[in-house]
Amino acid sequence: MSDRDADVGGLQDHSLGNEIVGRIAELGGISQSKEHLARLFLTREHRAAADLIVSWMREAGMRARLDAIGNVCGRYEGERPGLPCLMLGSHYDTVVDAGKWDGPLGLITAISCVADLNRRGRRLPFAIEVVGFADEEGVRFASTLLGSRAVAGTFDESALNSRDRGGMTLRQAIADFGLDPDHIGAAARTRRELLGYLELHIEQGPVLEERSLPVGVVTAIAGATRLSARLTGMAGHAGTVPMALRRDALTGAAEAICAIEEFCRTDHGGLVGTVGYIHALPGATNVIPGQVSFTMDIRAPTDPHRKRAVTDIVRQLEAIAGRRNLALQLNVTHENRTVPCAPWLKTQIAEAIAAEGLPVFELPSGAGHDGMAMIDVADVGMIFVRCRGGISHHPDEHVELADADTGARVLLRVIENFRPQPAV
Ligand SMILES: [Zn+2]
Repeated sequence: MSDRDADVGGLQDHSLGNEIVGRIAELGGISQSKEHLARLFLTREHRAAADLIVSWMREAGMRARLDAIGNVCGRYEGERPGLPCLMLGSHYDTVVDAGKWDGPLGLITAISCVADLNRRGRRLPFAIEVVGFADEEGVRFASTLLGSRAVAGTFDESALNSRDRGGMTLRQAIADFGLDPDHIGAAARTRRELLGYLELHIEQGPVLEERSLPVGVVTAIAGATRLSARLTGMAGHAGTVPMALRRDALTGAAEAICAIEEFCRTDHGGLVGTVGYIHALPGATNVIPGQVSFTMDIRAPTDPHRKRAVTDIVRQLEAIAGRRNLALQLNVTHENRTVPCAPWLKTQIAEAIAAEGLPVFELPSGAGHDGMAMIDVADVGMIFVRCRGGISHHPDEHVELADADTGARVLLRVIENFRPQPAV
């Protein structure tokens, strides 16, 4: 205990955790709706949140500003001005009916760590930048990671013409927010400026809780393949067509869905597959379903693993369709690559966790994160913090004070002991 305290500058018990939990509540109070938390990209409440985050950054000794897409950017100089930075961040937009922790925990924790360094007058041989990404969830405009893509220099300008449900373009929304949509290019950073990108985030799953661990080292952000499937058979009268003569698309889909579940369940390599949507036609109690559409979402910790799984699943669906005399049509609707966390950053996170006297446990992230965009401009590392019941994107999302504090201690240790990767 005592040497831990000495190592991180004589912190009081839970002093960081208390500040973090208080700020989570404060930020979580900024919502478009009184009934639930919703803070969508470029809304008035999103702007109020940005202003609050800027004030916290300044209080922590950072220079802070908004870039042209609405990312909140703070910089804490190193031993001398202008040094390359270790970038820390997470997002401050939310889904609708969100929890308070998804995104803000990583952002607020990073600010609290910098504030702690600042209080102690500690300067490091590198700068620290903290970024609150403006759009990770992608709820308002049909595109995710707009904030981190702008920082990574991969923002697609054509997205400016996309419209929200009310018909407003992204370009107009940025202008109304008080920013210049023609300057998004200036938000882009270069690999030379960044020593690495580190994000702390709630796990959004139950694995850490099941193992009674407050924190974990993320190995990779799993890639995903999404497909839409359509099975076509023959609609018919529920009373007159004998069972042997039916071409029921819905029972075929049921068999297909169970086969997908069984395939993923018996994989043991972190493969997950979900059918989250199904629609049967004509959709009447007394009619044999002639056509069924459903979706699939397949994720795995590596790209080859996921691609192999998709191929095998497709083969099984074809066999089921063939046996049942159904036509099968498949479309890949979305595909994104797996983003591996950098081994050298994983090592430094593991060292920090071990220095806290905790077991080091590695796990992949099944959910997407800003690191998926940041990988184009920096090596990526992630720390997961346990959340109650694995619940996320839900008002019951919760992190215990002690876990928020542990996460902060780990992040602070990583920062203070950070060693840039030697140039290769
Ligand atoms: Zn998130």
